[in-house]
Amino acid sequence: MEPTHAALREAFRARGRQLWLVGGALRDRLLGIASHDIDYATDALPDEVEEIARGLGARVTTVGKRFGTIGVLLEGEWVEITTFRGDSYAPGSRWPDVTFGRSIEEDLARRDFTITAFAENAHTGEWLDLFGGEADLRAGIIRAVGEPAARFREDPLRILRGVRFVSQLGFRLDPATAAGMRETAHLIAALSQERITAELDKLLQGRAPAAGLEALRETGALPFALPELAGMPGCEQNRFHRFDVWGHTLATVDAIAVDPENRRIRRWAALLHDLGKPAVRHTKPNGEWGFYRHEVVGAELAEALLERLRFGRADAHVVVLLVRRHMERPDPADRRAVRRFMAKLGGHWRDLLALKRADNASHTYDDTAYHDALEAACLRAEQEEAEAIRAESPLSGDDLVRMFDRPPGPWIGVIKRQLGAMVLDGELAPGDRAAAERIARRLMGRG
Ligand code: ATP
Ligand code: MG
Repeated sequence: MEPTHAALREAFRARGRQLWLVGGALRDRLLGIASHDIDYATDALPDEVEEIARGLGARVTTVGKRFGTIGVLLEGEWVEITTFRGDSYAPGSRWPDVTFGRSIEEDLARRDFTITAFAENAHTGEWLDLFGGEADLRAGIIRAVGEPAARFREDPLRILRGVRFVSQLGFRLDPATAAGMRETAHLIAALSQERITAELDKLLQGRAPAAGLEALRETGALPFALPELAGMPGCEQNRFHRFDVWGHTLATVDAIAVDPENRRIRRWAALLHDLGKPAVRHTKPNGEWGFYRHEVVGAELAEALLERLRFGRADAHVVVLLVRRHMERPDPADRRAVRRFMAKLGGHWRDLLALKRADNASHTYDDTAYHDALEAACLRAEQEEAEAIRAESPLSGDDLVRMFDRPPGPWIGVIKRQLGAMVLDGELAPGDRAAAERIARRLMGRG
């Protein structure tokens, strides 16, 4: 259910101000997906918008006010109300110099893609689609508003937003828009790293990440957005592989199983797992390409790359660990090897197994049986560990020494093992010290 914002609409209407629903919310409605991205555009200036918002008794934020945006908390969600824009961008500058426009038409014309450039009048319901955005949305096309190269020159971040939409929406680039991106891709270098990284992060976590990455390559943006990956396309492999390193990487990114909570780490690990291959490639004695120790070199390169992206230390650490360990292949029948493997992964063995399965998806051999066996062995080890903790005596050696006022000796081990066995058998609750003391006394009484 879309929110109504009746009080907001009424307050704008009462002052004779326009109010248009714009951007993501309309896009999501046409796509039939829930939206938490509600933006309005208005002819009221930010001071007046703030006054109206405060008049509603709602919580208000003014952090975006110098860009023309006032945030209002309505019906439990933050809503952004932005004064019509008529931006003039200084080419290559980080932020637009904000100028306010006079009409919704002017505002829509400065938006980047047709699928973000339609509006619905909140008072009358009038639908305003000046650039064919609805048709493009239904056809799944990302098309620049206006002359593509000129728009990308104004703000090169739009190139990355476009390829990000390819991944997020599963759309494709209109050919003229892609050509405009190719012409201007070098300008990405002038953008701040934070803005680039935010777009790459969204691209990688979209529903069609391989398509987004391929769009990044096709538009020539890859060497500017992720120069560290530029050696992957065309890096041929050997008979174990169906694709070159780039094709294999894309297949792995698309194949890796993800949940919302591990999506970021797993997708980035899939992207970077073979980063070391172009650097270490060498000819083996049998004449084939070899990639000896590519996971070690790859982990070092991945660490440097993620630091450059300002990725966040905790997530970067896990991604690098997964890259470093993705060639590990412990014998599932060897309990100690399985435990060593799990210890090295510090709680992330499931992520590594997901990476190994995805990696295998574009190999020429099927390793599913091995991965199933390794997963079963890891689960068994985890269960044994849990049981070992549960089998612990509720009383420690120190407890027993104090209780019986006797010097430590082999008797402690005897009592603790007995208590532990009873916990494992369910005869004694894991933390029940009182019962454990009674049992200990009885055991000691028997000598
Ligand atoms: P998301 O919210 O997923 O980042 P979005 O397209 O909704 O995607 P916002 O940053 O919320 O992006 O911006 C809201 C609207 O402002 C967009 O729908 C688009 O019309 C416009 N817009 C955003 N960034 C730009 C830009 N760099 N150039 C032109 N218009 C833009
Ligand atoms: Mg948005």
